[in-house]
Amino acid sequence: MNPTSIPAERAALRELREATIAGCSECGLCVRECSFLKKQGTPKDIAASFDPGNAASLSRPFECSLCGLCTAVCPERLELDALFLEMRREAVDRGCGEYPGHQPLVTYERLGTSRRFTLYRLPQGCTTIFFPGCSLSGTRPEGVNQVFARLQEGDPNIGIVFDCCLKPSHSLGREQYVSAMFEEMREYLLGQGVREVLVACPNCQVMFEKFGAGLAVKTVWEALAASGLQLQRTTGTVTVHDPCVIRYAEPVHGAVRTLLTRQGLTVEEMPHSGRTTVCCGKGGAVDMLAPELAASWGALRKSEAAGRRIVTYCAGCTQALGTHTPTSHLVDLLFAPARTMAGKTRGARTPFTYLNRLRLKKRYNIMKGTAVTRERTVAPEKEKKKRPFRSLIVALLLVAAVIGVHLSGATHYLQQEKLQALIGSYGALAPAIYILIYALAPVLFLPGLPLTVAGGILFGPFWGVVYAITGATIGASLAFLVARYVARDWVAAKLTGPKWEKLDSEVALHGWKVVAFTRLIPAFPFNLLNYAFGLTKIPFTHYLVATFICMLPACIAFIVFSSSLLGLIRGTVSPAAIIGIGLIVLVSLLPLLYRRFKARRNGNGTPPL
Ligand code: SF4
Ligand code: SF4
Repeated sequence: MNPTSIPAERAALRELREATIAGCSECGLCVRECSFLKKQGTPKDIAASFDPGNAASLSRPFECSLCGLCTAVCPERLELDALFLEMRREAVDRGCGEYPGHQPLVTYERLGTSRRFTLYRLPQGCTTIFFPGCSLSGTRPEGVNQVFARLQEGDPNIGIVFDCCLKPSHSLGREQYVSAMFEEMREYLLGQGVREVLVACPNCQVMFEKFGAGLAVKTVWEALAASGLQLQRTTGTVTVHDPCVIRYAEPVHGAVRTLLTRQGLTVEEMPHSGRTTVCCGKGGAVDMLAPELAASWGALRKSEAAGRRIVTYCAGCTQALGTHTPTSHLVDLLFAPARTMAGKTRGARTPFTYLNRLRLKKRYNIMKGTAVTRERTVAPEKEKKKRPFRSLIVALLLVAAVIGVHLSGATHYLQQEKLQALIGSYGALAPAIYILIYALAPVLFLPGLPLTVAGGILFGPFWGVVYAITGATIGASLAFLVARYVARDWVAAKLTGPKWEKLDSEVALHGWKVVAFTRLIPAFPFNLLNYAFGLTKIPFTHYLVATFICMLPACIAFIVFSSSLLGLIRGTVSPAAIIGIGLIVLVSLLPLLYRRFKARRNGNGTPPL
């Protein structure tokens, strides 16, 4: 969607912007507390310079974690986190709010609301449910069982619901989708007579408080503290990280500290706690677009913890802070205190989190007693429209094409030797035309893969690589030079957003290594990337050499494979085909290996918000 095609700014955003411009005295209190504001300026600056028709302006709020600390410290009582959330919603309304970096989180949520992962188990007479949430269920299924068993002692009719609270989409500004999905859940629960929800995750808590009209919300920590639950005792000193999304929930903060002191632990506070707590680094999915900002908040927590074990009650915070300093989830401490204080308990990581959720579902699906059971069958928007069967259709078309070629007798014409002899008869003209086409393709945004495949078929594995890499390097260079010298302003207007801004700053820091990295790990679309590098300060020769060398592995893999493609279609599996497939698999694994490395480094596994 064209960002300028929606003329009217959201009314709520306009009001918040006007209030901020009028009310902010630029005292700097919020800026002092926040890495995002240190980078972007005071809220007044941001509100005044916000331009809903400008993609760069629309991308900026996705670097704010929505933690609300600015709001908490503002003497003018401005609603700043609400302002940044409205800006995100504005971006989504204008079709500018979808970033590839958020995709894992969106997938995580989509699975969480899918039929496979959801379960509503409501015994007869059930008025209260336990809603453990995706993160705790995935990382600590035994903790879910322990908590539920204690809750059942107090209320034998308590139900359990495994579903996603939709906080990821809420934070990403997908307002309409959240409303529709949450409303469906709310109406169902109310229709079944449910009136109270006990949550274990602060994100679920805020979602039920915001959208769950008619449902009272309480945390399991408050319920357990009030129940007089007998706990195994331990000794030691801990400090508590209150999740930022519930910074004003004083009864919850108190209940957590009550449980810890009841266990015999000494609780010492960090400078930021309760209403002035800080983000763990994962709020608003900032870590997915601006990891350096996320890391700064984790580092702050590490310095404030000063060697004391942090206890928190959000699975996402536990994982994020755990990459900086010893951190435990409250549920581990309640039910395995000695092991937890010794640092021996750890939440599960992806993909085991998904397995744990399926196991939990299985366990509660066969729970004894009469109960109403349902799985959520309301499919998220796009999923119904686009995704199902797409890969299957492509695979079926390929199979049909191969069968068609065989049945029609066309295999006779698919003889590489004949084709290559025909091409050879044109002498130097054939490779020259091939290189010319390949050189123009990136400039015209045409896909390079079909050309690479054609190169392998027409020229064989050696000359195919020579001609393809020559054409691709010339094409990448042309696009670079166009962006640098011919159409700089036009290209710059197109390539806006945190990802492209980050590319610029990374190139300034690391130079040709960024070119090498992005050629090997295709995190950016190839054709756009060529233009984007033209806007950076990298010397052309560095770009040229790094591009040429680092495009070679993928080029060799695809050319070697495609040089044997016609034989494969005829049913001949040659050594070149096997080597080519092996090389393609190796090259294709690079992004996956990189993502795993990055996830491990950032502590990802449970993408919380
Ligand atoms: S909500 Fe948090 S991250 Fe965003 S501006 Fe305020 S303090 Fe900074
Ligand atoms: S604390 Fe409030 S008044 Fe001060 S700079 Fe921030 S928004 Fe403005």
